Amino acid sequence: MSKRLGETIAQQEVAGLLHAVRRPLHTGWIHCSASDRPEHDRAQVMDQWHRARGWSGIGYHAFITKSGVVQMGRDWGQEPAAQEGHNTGALALCLHGLALERFALAQFAVLQALAAAVDAAHLLRWRGHCEVAAKACPVFDYRRVLGLDARGQRQPHGATEVHTAGTVRLFDRGDQVAQVQQALCDRGAFLVVDGLFGRATEAAVIAFQTRAGVTPDGVVGPETWAALAAVDG
Ligand SMILES: [Zn+2]
Repeated sequence: MSKRLGETIAQQEVAGLLHAVRRPLHTGWIHCSASDRPEHDRAQVMDQWHRARGWSGIGYHAFITKSGVVQMGRDWGQEPAAQEGHNTGALALCLHGLALERFALAQFAVLQALAAAVDAAHLLRWRGHCEVAAKACPVFDYRRVLGLDARGQRQPHGATEVHTAGTVRLFDRGDQVAQVQQALCDRGAFLVVDGLFGRATEAAVIAFQTRAGVTPDGVVGPETWAALAAVDG
């Protein structure tokens, strides 16, 4: 399977992309683009940047936009040009962003799903660029987002038991809200589990709903409860 630069990669296409790779793979590297500018939110722009520096085009295999779309970067059959001295056997992923607080929860949810899809076809050790370079890249806690152990392997999050089915929404408070927050955190969201359904919780609910294929309305009703109970990690 091959894709053109910038084309959207669907989750179910990851296995096919990996299947076509004829080089050994052992490590997945995580990067951020070091920009928050909306006009840079495309794999094609990363490609132009790299070419402008005299390099052979985009160094990453996949680029995750702020809205959580996975775009095709470099041909997956080629080694990345992203971590000096560590490109052999590597797959390189880049999330668009610079300031930690400006990454979108959807990007982290998509990174989790992408890494899970990769691992399902080809188990990798996941590492951040900062582990081999004097850089902050990626600026977010990728170890926590991916649930990595000391060796960089993803650990499945224990599925949170979800028993209740009452609807909760923005500005609600109580145990059910805390339960939603805990379930979202178990799936990689960054939330304080305080039982207060604020804007951050709403954003995390919407990101989860988007990923789970539930109407992304930010309201946790029966459908979202069911999706939270069904999704393991
Ligand atoms: Zn990097």
